[in-house]
Amino acid sequence: MAVAVKFDQVSYIYQQNTPFASVALDKVSFEIQQGTYTAIIGHTGSGKSTLLQHFNALLQPTQGEVIIGDVHITRDSKPKALKNLRRHIGLVFQFPEAQLFEETVLKDVMFGPKNFGKTDEQAEKIAKEKLAITGISPDLFERSPFELSGGQMRRVAIAGVLALEPEVLILDEPTAGLDPVGQKEMMTLFSSLHRQGLTIVLVTHNMDHVAQYADHVIVMEHGQKIADTQPECLFANRDWVLKHHLDLPTATDFARELTQRHLLNAQAPILTVEQLAEAIIDEWKGSELHG
Ligand code: ADP
Ligand code: MG
Repeated sequence: MAVAVKFDQVSYIYQQNTPFASVALDKVSFEIQQGTYTAIIGHTGSGKSTLLQHFNALLQPTQGEVIIGDVHITRDSKPKALKNLRRHIGLVFQFPEAQLFEETVLKDVMFGPKNFGKTDEQAEKIAKEKLAITGISPDLFERSPFELSGGQMRRVAIAGVLALEPEVLILDEPTAGLDPVGQKEMMTLFSSLHRQGLTIVLVTHNMDHVAQYADHVIVMEHGQKIADTQPECLFANRDWVLKHHLDLPTATDFARELTQRHLLNAQAPILTVEQLAEAIIDEWKGSELHG
């Protein structure tokens, strides 16, 4: 597998050389392979959003480098050399709906492709396609984005990022503030984009989402990377997870409760509701055999 993104000893200091200087990232290194689904977790203030903004050079490292394809981003990289990155790495901010600005939904999504040299006609075609993927129906295309519901606005903003046809999609808490149905739809959308080949990087506080969707997880604490593993390995280490004041997936907790009451004796780690159901069914089958 090819490496999509590599961080090499990346540090970032806000307001360096002022009395307000604060270290937000401290020598962070990791690799993200193409086609994977990475979750980044950690408490508020641990550096997740700062980290994400390095993926497309919105922030440049104070020290170290970020490597994307053959582009090396360091403190000294010139902004012009980095503009094209934004096409390959799509970054969806927290509450991206705050950045909608055009008169109509369609124009908003067309803005990016036009900015990167597509004709009106090409941009419109791409915009319509991406709006369809994100579940925005054509009767909304000529509306003002500000007349839409919060969830719809967020979808339009995501369509705007997809319209640049990035290879890597970076998402900063994309389900925050959505109701459970909206969350589920959003996660299903990312899952289908992932199946179509996009590399996904998701910041989330939802451990059920980590368990269900991610194949790689990075844990941040006080600007440092404190774990870089697979979700099964992370959640198998219950004591470590709790020591760092993180949650376990609901199904993992439930399985433990059943195990402690001698109602379940699962061999494999349980992260999802589906795995829990399987384990319970196996247990039933086993007890029928014996009694
Ligand atoms: P997270 O996304 O995990 O909540 P952030 O990357 O937003 O973490 O913040 C990491 C640290 O950097 C925090 O201590 C935060 O207060 C600080 N920080 C974030 N943005 C700024 C900023 N624009 N100026 C100064 N400090 C900031
Ligand atoms: Mg954040």
